[in-house]
Amino acid sequence: MSDLERVLRSTRVITPEGTRPASVAVAAGKIVDVLPHDAEAPPGVPVEDFGDDALLPGLVDTHVHVNDPGRSEWEGFWTATRAAAAGGITTLVDMPLNSLPPTTTTAHLQVKRETAAPKAHIDVGFWGGALPDNVHELRPLHDAGVHGFKCFLSPSGVDEFPQLDQRQLRRSLTEIAGFGGLLIVHAEDPHQLAGAPQRGGERYADFLASRPRDAENTAIRTLIELARELDARVHVLHLSSSDALPLIAEAKRAGVRVTVESCPHFLTLTAEEVPDGATEFKCCPPIREAANQDALWQGLADGTIDCVVSDHSPSTADLKTGDFATAWGGISSLQLGLPAIWTEARGRGHTLDDVVRWMSTAPAAIAGLADKGAIEAGKDADFAVLAPERSFTVDPARLQHRNPITAYAGKTLHGVVTSTWLRGRRVLGDDGFTEPSGRLLRAH
Ligand SMILES: [Zn+2]
Repeated sequence: MSDLERVLRSTRVITPEGTRPASVAVAAGKIVDVLPHDAEAPPGVPVEDFGDDALLPGLVDTHVHVNDPGRSEWEGFWTATRAAAAGGITTLVDMPLNSLPPTTTTAHLQVKRETAAPKAHIDVGFWGGALPDNVHELRPLHDAGVHGFKCFLSPSGVDEFPQLDQRQLRRSLTEIAGFGGLLIVHAEDPHQLAGAPQRGGERYADFLASRPRDAENTAIRTLIELARELDARVHVLHLSSSDALPLIAEAKRAGVRVTVESCPHFLTLTAEEVPDGATEFKCCPPIREAANQDALWQGLADGTIDCVVSDHSPSTADLKTGDFATAWGGISSLQLGLPAIWTEARGRGHTLDDVVRWMSTAPAAIAGLADKGAIEAGKDADFAVLAPERSFTVDPARLQHRNPITAYAGKTLHGVVTSTWLRGRRVLGDDGFTEPSGRLLRAH
C-alpha cells in the first residue's frame, strides 16, 4: 500500500453492502480498498477522518441543462459545476438542448467539449440529441462518446430542437438500437397536450390542467410498445404522472428494456403548495398533487422508478414571468437535490443507502459510467461528505448556480454537504473551491 495517496475515514461509509464504519484507501485517483475503520495508514499517508459525517460516493446527475455556449447567461459550466459540487455531485451529464449549438452533430459536440473543458469543477459527460433530420449523425455521435440520445415527443421549448413525430421516433430508435445505444425521452403526447385546456395566466391549477397525466401516460405507453417491438433500450425522463407506474412495472416484468427517472421537485414539492404566479415552480411535465407524490415514492421504493436526477433547467429572472403559459419552464435545484430528497426520504423511512442508490449508483449505470456510482475498489475516488442530521434554510443568494432563483427558497432541509472529492482530491471544502479539475467523460 506504499503508493497510497490518502485514506478517508468515517463511521458511516455508504457501500454497496450497506452503511458501516470504514477507511477508504485511495491511490492514483481510484478507490483501491475499503478497509476496517481502525485500519492503520502507512507512515506519511494522510488520513481524513470525517467522524460521524457520512461518506457517500459522489452523486451522478444525468439530467442537467448547462446551456453553455449560447445561453450562458442562463447557466454555464463554471457555475453549474460549482453548484453541483456544492450539492455533492461529482459527475453531471449535460443535456443536448438550450445551448447554441445543441449537441446534435459531432462538430457541435466538439464545441461543447471545448467550452466545458476549462470550466469543469467536476466530471462532465454529454447526451446527444435526436432530431427529425439528424439520423445520420447518431452513429458518429455515439462513436464520439455521447452517453445516449435525447428526444422530445412534444415541443421542447426552443426552436432549434424540434420534436420527433411517430415515424421519426421509430426511425431514430431503430438506428440507435442498431448500435446498442440508449434513447432518453421527454414523454408527453402532443395530441393530449393540444386537447387540454390552455388557459394561461397566473393560476397554477390552470397550468396543471394544461399538462394532464394522460399526456405522459400515452407517450410512455407508446414508447414502451416501440421499445418492446424493436428490442431497444429507452429511458423515461422526469416522470411526474404516477398513473404510468403500473404500465412501466408491467413492461419491466416482461423484459422491456426501459428505465425511469424522477426528480426532486416531483418528490418533495406539491401542486397544493405552489402559489399562483410563482413560476419558479414551472416545469414540464408539472409538479402534481400530494397523492401523486405518495405514489411516486412507492414507485421508487419498489424499483419501478430507477433513479432521481435534478433536471436543473435554469433561465434568467426576466423569463420567469408571472404567466405560467409563457414563463420559461425549468426548476433550478442542482445544489439542493441531495438535501431535498434526503429530507423527504428520512421522513418516509428510507436510508442514505437508498438515496445513494437512487442518486449515484443507478444513474451511473444508466449512463454507462462504469467508474462511478459506488464506494468499492476500482471505482473513481469521488465522494460527498454529508452531515445528515444538520439542517439549513435555503437562501437563493447563497446558491452557486448563475441565476439565484429556486423553487426551494425558504425551505428548511436536512443534510449539509461539508466537502466534495473528485479522484481523491478535495474540490470543495471549508476553504471554498479549488481550481477546475473535472474531466470530460466519454461513454464506452
Ligand atoms: Zn430537462
